[in-house]
Amino acid sequence: MKAAVLYGNEDIRYDDYETPEVEPGTVKIAVKASGICGSDVPRVLHNGAHYYPIVLGHEFAGEVVEVGEGVTKVKVGDTVTGAPRIPCMVCADCVAGNIAQCTHDSFIGSRQQGSFAEYVVIPEANAVPYDPSVPAETAVFFEPATVAAHGVMQNDYAGGEYVAVIGAGTIGLFVVQWAKIFGSRKIVVFDVDDERLALAKGFGADEGVNSLSEGYLEKAKGLTAGAGYAQVFEAVGSNATLLMALELAAAKAHVGLIGTPHDTVSFTKPQWEIINRKELTLRGFWQGYSLPFPGREWELTAHYFATGQLRADPSFIDRKYPLSEAAEAFARFKNPKNIHGKILLVNQ
Ligand SMILES: [Zn+2]
Ligand SMILES: [Zn+2]
Repeated sequence: MKAAVLYGNEDIRYDDYETPEVEPGTVKIAVKASGICGSDVPRVLHNGAHYYPIVLGHEFAGEVVEVGEGVTKVKVGDTVTGAPRIPCMVCADCVAGNIAQCTHDSFIGSRQQGSFAEYVVIPEANAVPYDPSVPAETAVFFEPATVAAHGVMQNDYAGGEYVAVIGAGTIGLFVVQWAKIFGSRKIVVFDVDDERLALAKGFGADEGVNSLSEGYLEKAKGLTAGAGYAQVFEAVGSNATLLMALELAAAKAHVGLIGTPHDTVSFTKPQWEIINRKELTLRGFWQGYSLPFPGREWELTAHYFATGQLRADPSFIDRKYPLSEAAEAFARFKNPKNIHGKILLVNQ
């Protein structure tokens, strides 16, 4: 088969690669489209791969073309995505349902062959069937949708509350949609970009507040009749937005940290004291898994993608490249400021 093979740092080539074979309990998928994840970029551009040569890619949509012995979950012709994490399922964390905390895991597209190829073979348990009416360009967003779902579901989410979502990026917009699906009193989104705020309203946010605007905090509190937000989701990962999460929180609020940190955090004493005074519950979230593996996050994402209540948007996609132009696609990451959304590699 053809694949985008990573031979060394900055050396990714469209080349012949051994076609993977199904084994008992595995599923062979003809890949339609793959997303380039932020985590793939250092693998290609900064010597970040576990070994060479390797075929990366872990956010994908495709069709089952062959199933191994004993497979019952999917059949040939099903449209599927793959949950990329392959937990050991026997360690204490796995048994307890702490799937993302398993340290004996494998990962499709970083420790074993991924989806930047014509075919990928994955364990049956990792295959997630979805309705064929869902476009592949939506299905490549399964993973971020499950990350957002996991954060919302694990944050002791109750409907009927004021919800603050900080950051209107892809994850933030999925958080908005889950909050809408699970029910809320009012969803308010915070971002520094008015266009993203307008987009968030299109996804069901009731209000958008530019956090750089004059008196943002008073305005934000006013939208809750002064109470603050019982549910706060941080989906950026910066010092400023973490502080915002504390400021926006109501007394005893649940503050969910979903954004991947990319900043050093420092608080003044009064800022730190907000956590004590309001008796906040801060929780971090990582990936989108639970039991039964890969979890309700994936099953619900499939369900709500099919009903249309959960959507990806053309604005989530920066650009599409044929798989044969994977090198050009990765070169684009040398100027990340020019990239707005996910870059897709598409099989013709
Ligand atoms: Zn990823
Ligand atoms: Zn484990």
